[in-house]
Amino acid sequence: MPDVLGPCPAWCSGVHHTKDELPVDQGHQSAPIMLQVPVSGRQVDVLEAFISQYPNALVSRADVYAAVDLGSDFYEVTTEDLDALARGLEVHAQRLRQLGRDLTEARRI
Ligand SMILES: [Zn+2]
Repeated sequence: MPDVLGPCPAWCSGVHHTKDELPVDQGHQSAPIMLQVPVSGRQVDVLEAFISQYPNALVSRADVYAAVDLGSDFYEVTTEDLDALARGLEVHAQRLRQLGRDLTEARRI
């Protein structure tokens, strides 16, 4: 299958997993940003985000877009969605710290 992607944009990792696919299914993808957390002695994937584009796609993915994998599915997201997700993670981090303090207190009683 010929490479129909053309030159990679600056954000592309250069790794194309779909070279054997039809031209509409070939795309550029940035290096993923992974959030892995230690749980019970092992690393667990919580979130993956990346930029992608399928230049020959017939639908919206012909444009550059970002996607987030939250473990169960991929979601196409906007810049505003990414900001909201980051704020949500910050709030959740505070809740987790409080839960840890609550656990310590609960074990003292
Ligand atoms: Zn590329």
